[in-house]
Amino acid sequence: MLNHPPTLRTLLSPHQYCLLGAILSILLQYGCRSTPQTTFAIDRPDRHQFTTKEFVIHSDVPLRPDDPLVRQLSDVQLQLAQTLKLQPQRDPVDVFLFSDETSYRNYLKVRWPTLPVRRAYFIRTSQQLAVYSFVSSRVLEDLRHEFTHGILHASCNHVPLWLDEGLAEYFEVSNDTPGSVSSVHLEELLKAEMEGWSPDLFRLEMLSKFEDLKALDYAESWGWIHFLLHHSAATRSLILDYIAGLRDATTAPRLLQQLETAVPTYAGDLWDHVHDMDQQ
Ligand SMILES: [Zn+2]
Repeated sequence: MLNHPPTLRTLLSPHQYCLLGAILSILLQYGCRSTPQTTFAIDRPDRHQFTTKEFVIHSDVPLRPDDPLVRQLSDVQLQLAQTLKLQPQRDPVDVFLFSDETSYRNYLKVRWPTLPVRRAYFIRTSQQLAVYSFVSSRVLEDLRHEFTHGILHASCNHVPLWLDEGLAEYFEVSNDTPGSVSSVHLEELLKAEMEGWSPDLFRLEMLSKFEDLKALDYAESWGWIHFLLHHSAATRSLILDYIAGLRDATTAPRLLQQLETAVPTYAGDLWDHVHDMDQQ
């Protein structure tokens, strides 16, 4: 779950600088077993690089190809490419893995002094798609979300906020079974339904500031993505075509109008899908 500091959005345009949720989780035990070398506050970890075609992991300790982090990032990249039928990335995603939390926080404090404290960040600038995090027991979980942002932005010119967060939440749930139900988001949606709330893609598509996103917005974004990818061939085709169109888009078209045309019963279908997930 990520809250995106409004200040960054104001510093850079959404297209050039997409601070997608608190990214950067940190890494695993491998870093904890050896004595990590503390980095200078203004430095990013870069003594070692593990390079693939789609991403580069920068760290102060060497990573082996069978490291859980390497395997996970490879898995997530492949899952996104296959599930969403993404075209080849235009740029690699740079993942900066600090060996310790102090170095990570010091770096962010110096480089991005207005950023609230988070365990991980995805930061898009005109020069780089960067994920920042540090070694911890939760790094794999956190990186699934933030790295998803990176892959999407490496493949698409424009990614609407709701879609960005919905897909990041979708791929964050499980590395082994993409599309697994998020019990947290499902509970949020069912609770909101009991209180008379209804999903509203029109409203969701209007949101463009991270600071405006609430927990229910993340849950709703996840719910729409899960529905579109799994409900029927028509909904799946619709969302895949929509994402394909974002590759060269200068602005994101509204999905709602296309959905109303392709699946006129979408409102009831969405709730049916949510209730079906609750029965699983
Ligand atoms: Zn996010």
